[in-house]
Amino acid sequence: MRILLVEDDTALGEGIRTALKPEGYTVDWLQDGASALHALTHESFELAILDLGLPRMDGLQVLKHLRAAANPVPVLVLTARDATSDRIAGLDAGADDYLIKPFDVAELKARLRALLRRSFNRPQPVFSYRGISLDPVSQAVSYLDKPVNLPRKEFLLLHELLAQPGRVMTRDKLQQALYGWDEEVESNALEVHVHHLRKKFFPELIRTVRGVGYLVDK
Ligand code: CA
Repeated sequence: MRILLVEDDTALGEGIRTALKPEGYTVDWLQDGASALHALTHESFELAILDLGLPRMDGLQVLKHLRAAANPVPVLVLTARDATSDRIAGLDAGADDYLIKPFDVAELKARLRALLRRSFNRPQPVFSYRGISLDPVSQAVSYLDKPVNLPRKEFLLLHELLAQPGRVMTRDKLQQALYGWDEEVESNALEVHVHHLRKKFFPELIRTVRGVGYLVDK
């Protein structure tokens, strides 16, 4: 399993490389964006760990070039603490996941495993819909480039609806997605979540199909 690590902080780069070695990964390490783009374009990696603040082309540009060239390599972005806008820009530019510095190595390993698992199956897209962006993997939601913190059930509901725009989702199906089979559900719980989502985003986001369920228009 070959990973490209792009990180200009020597101590951090060394630390990550050392930590990943026993996991059986082959880690190639570069310290600037231009070399990274060149390597990712001409060689084959299962995954890239990409710092955003890099000399000779920042990580965001690397990512944009990659995705513009339809390079599907899974990318985990490393961002500075509190740089929410970086995180969103990274996801918008096609990052598959992100980690905020400083992070626990155990978490990095878990994220890599998840990313690799995913890349062997169907890649999950970040959903974009009329200013809303929802990332199923990181569970980050934003609206007009501002992060929105959704309670778990609202996140799941929005995810279900955005995954299939134009299609009516029945109440039964939505309730199952939100609550599983053996969870007690208040009869108006779904209405309440829909109401909250409309308020947090915009009223026309979710259309009611009387007697059937809900949908977001295509
Ligand atoms: Ca850096």
